[in-house]
Amino acid sequence: MGFKEYRQERQVALTAVLAAAQLCKKVRLDAQSQALEKPDRSPVTIADYGAQALICQVLAAQFPNDAIVGEEDAILLRTPDMTTCLEQVVRYVQYFQPQATATDVLAWIGRGKGTPIGRFWTLDPIDGTKGYVRGDQYAIALALIEAGQVVVAAIACPALTPSFNDSTDSGVVFLATRGQGATMLSVQTGIETPLKVNSTGDDPSAWRLLESVERDHGTPVWQQAIAQRIGLVQSPLQMDSLAKYGIIARGEAHLYMRLPSGASALRYENIWDHAAGVLVLTEAGGTVTDQQGKPLDFGCGSKLSNNQGIIASNGQLHAQVLDVLPGIVAELEEI
Ligand code: AMP
Ligand code: MG
Repeated sequence: MGFKEYRQERQVALTAVLAAAQLCKKVRLDAQSQALEKPDRSPVTIADYGAQALICQVLAAQFPNDAIVGEEDAILLRTPDMTTCLEQVVRYVQYFQPQATATDVLAWIGRGKGTPIGRFWTLDPIDGTKGYVRGDQYAIALALIEAGQVVVAAIACPALTPSFNDSTDSGVVFLATRGQGATMLSVQTGIETPLKVNSTGDDPSAWRLLESVERDHGTPVWQQAIAQRIGLVQSPLQMDSLAKYGIIARGEAHLYMRLPSGASALRYENIWDHAAGVLVLTEAGGTVTDQQGKPLDFGCGSKLSNNQGIIASNGQLHAQVLDVLPGIVAELEEI
């Protein structure tokens, strides 16, 4: 069976995340990236709102029938306390959409509260907001889901260079279409390179583990014990956002684990925090499952409520990780 090409969707997704990336860079450069707290106590900045407005505007214009399931909503921004914040968001959106009014911006952001059924987009306008505020990595992540499958992905990483050895500082975009491979676009040079995981070496000393900067987004003790058991000796690399999926997809790391424990074990992951990363990595030859080895199920709403824990790898290490994981978790839980 042939795969659908999704050429227009891929192009529109790229255009949308590139505009949002420019907005996010501008806000950070202007030192306007300080965070406000949402009612759930998670951080949000004017760039999160601006990026969601721009992307929803582009998607609504090109694919008016597609729902969008985004991280942000306009409810907080509509409150009187947020008037100054809304004005700032509108000002930044106007760099890209000069005619935009506050009413337009609120309506575009509000479009991100669609229902995750059938064919829909899922959007994280800034994944890794804490990294964004800290001056570290962050990502603008957009994915198209159809019948529970991720079919198109675009992840802009405005603060990521094309490789760890390259200091070209204009960011990259990871792109993937189901069945058609993954690529990385350098924003500065416009060069697009195919992505392939690094799975050739048998030397575990070269293998690298990735995990979140935020310690409570996983369980570092478990993750590091598992990595050590299968032979990884390098210290883990901590990085914010879905950029971690791109790093494995381009061969600079081999394994990423996000194993919840304690209060986090009661929480399900959001689809927008993983959908685009999963397609980029699997199209580059990697594997992504939950901690039991089940594929992530993007067909059950806005949360990954059929999965717990995330393991993303170059494919080669996956079976070994799944094999040692239950024993190590049981051992460490006893301590
Ligand atoms: P990362 O940069 O990989 O740490 O991931 C950032 C994402 O983690 C945010 O978009 C949040 O949705 C998500 N997050 C927030 N709290 C938790 C938690 N307790 N466990 C796992 N992920 C979380
Ligand atoms: Mg996120």
